[in-house]
Amino acid sequence: MRKLLVSLPLIATSILGGCNSEPNIEPADLIFSGGAVFTSDPEQPTASAVAVRGKHIVYVGEERGVIPFIGVSTRQINIQDGLLISGLMDSHTHVFNGSFSDVGVNLSLADTREKLQVALEAIRDANPGTGPVYARGWQNHLFPKTGPKAQQLDEIFGDRIVILGSVDGHSRWFSSRALREGGVDANYPDPHPGVSFFERDSLTNEPLGTGREKAGEHITAKFIPGDKSAYQERFVRWLPRAAAAGLTGVYDAWAAAPSEQEAYEIWHSISESGGLSLRVFGSVRETDSADLIANRFKKFEQNFSSEMVRPEAIKLAADGVPEGHTAFLLTPYVDSNNEDFGHPMISKEDMTANITTYFGADIPVHIHAIGGGAVRMSLDAIEAARTTTGNESVRATIAHMDFVHPDDIPRFKALNVTAQTSIQWAARDPSYFNIGSFVGIDKVENAYPVRSIMDAGANQSFGADWPASAYLSTYKPLELIEAAVTRRLPGEPSMPPRNPNQSVSVAEAIIAMTRNTAIQVGELESLGSISEGKLADLVLLEKNLFDIPAETINATSVAMTVVNGRIVHEQ
Ligand SMILES: [Zn+2]
Repeated sequence: MRKLLVSLPLIATSILGGCNSEPNIEPADLIFSGGAVFTSDPEQPTASAVAVRGKHIVYVGEERGVIPFIGVSTRQINIQDGLLISGLMDSHTHVFNGSFSDVGVNLSLADTREKLQVALEAIRDANPGTGPVYARGWQNHLFPKTGPKAQQLDEIFGDRIVILGSVDGHSRWFSSRALREGGVDANYPDPHPGVSFFERDSLTNEPLGTGREKAGEHITAKFIPGDKSAYQERFVRWLPRAAAAGLTGVYDAWAAAPSEQEAYEIWHSISESGGLSLRVFGSVRETDSADLIANRFKKFEQNFSSEMVRPEAIKLAADGVPEGHTAFLLTPYVDSNNEDFGHPMISKEDMTANITTYFGADIPVHIHAIGGGAVRMSLDAIEAARTTTGNESVRATIAHMDFVHPDDIPRFKALNVTAQTSIQWAARDPSYFNIGSFVGIDKVENAYPVRSIMDAGANQSFGADWPASAYLSTYKPLELIEAAVTRRLPGEPSMPPRNPNQSVSVAEAIIAMTRNTAIQVGELESLGSISEGKLADLVLLEKNLFDIPAETINATSVAMTVVNGRIVHEQ
């Protein structure tokens, strides 16, 4: 006891004075202490001090133990009432497609006409000048069947070219000047009447402001440059926003800038110049025969692998989306006279043969599967490919998985398959009733069974699929963590949750976006938790997520983001 009383002031002196009491230990560059640390490491889930030297975490433990790491140039950061967590990694996103339309205002969160007006004014204020404005994310349900009108944009933006994509990517909203300079008037022919068309005044045939599907693509192409340098510029502009959201790594599931090769060229060049503030694990899309794709993957691996970037998996698609009745279900669409199950995008035989080729070359796969039929087919194909090749360890991920039959849940662990979920889709948002009207309300209520998958011992990761979404489009991991816990839209405590039996704890949600994503991309040795010897990817939150109401998690600020030992964001 006497010893303890004596040593307490010593701790205080050391921390304040910054002296290095043990010369054998090289001083750290950064020390976090004085608050809570959640590590995502099952061996040591919590700590109260962390030291970083160079790119690595060199100490995790009690405050006392960090004292020898304090040197004259060590920066000491007080966690206070915040929380230090491992860097947040999105397990399925699209950074070029997302950043291309990102203007720092989330239109998809505007769920009333009043909020939309505020969001549009914020977009105007974020884009001063007279140049064209391009963004994405407005919600269809705010407008009548004929969609939003040009006049509303004219009133806010003046006589300016404004092009705003809907959140689902199927419609575009144009200002009057955009229509006029795009040559769209009463006499302009629709590209594909009934499918790709402009909403029009029933008497005059004048366009009202909304183009459906491909209608107006030519206007976007004319005014919004979509070449490699445009993609690079918008991606670089977004990187600080990603860092401010605590995003330290992504699995990118489909990159085009505008080509896949150009996407890797951009990542590689920014990485080489030291400007890449998040790690990128990329895809190679299955757009050709399996042998050619496997070769392309190996070539990309040779040409584009660096400390911060590498191709991770071949991206396959098993099916489409429920809105187009292209998700492949185990029970028929309820609005189809019980006849239409949807169709897989590839036959089971071809998928099995292709995955066998990839596993034979030790290349991981990442499969888009929304319907229960697509999930089952993907598991069957992986099972057959594991048996044929004998390769039990090559990584496999099935992504999105809106609908999963209970019989298939134990197969994820048995087949060593990561379950990837766009967890903010699990809110009971307006898409719940829309999609429920095609697939059945019982199906949407039981969608996204992440609790059952975790309980079955499988690796479950979360990612936003930004900017794709049936409702909330976001890249912000804290919004996903909140939705995983509440099964509601972020910041909407009065909304009824979707099947709350499938909600997860705050700790499990953080682990899904740290450790489990690191497992998905094969980086658990170096990333995914705050553990000695791992790379220093860290996020300091201003509040302790374990101590605040769940519906405020989304609004928690990120005080500091560290990637590879380097501070990439600081409030
Ligand atoms: Zn995706």
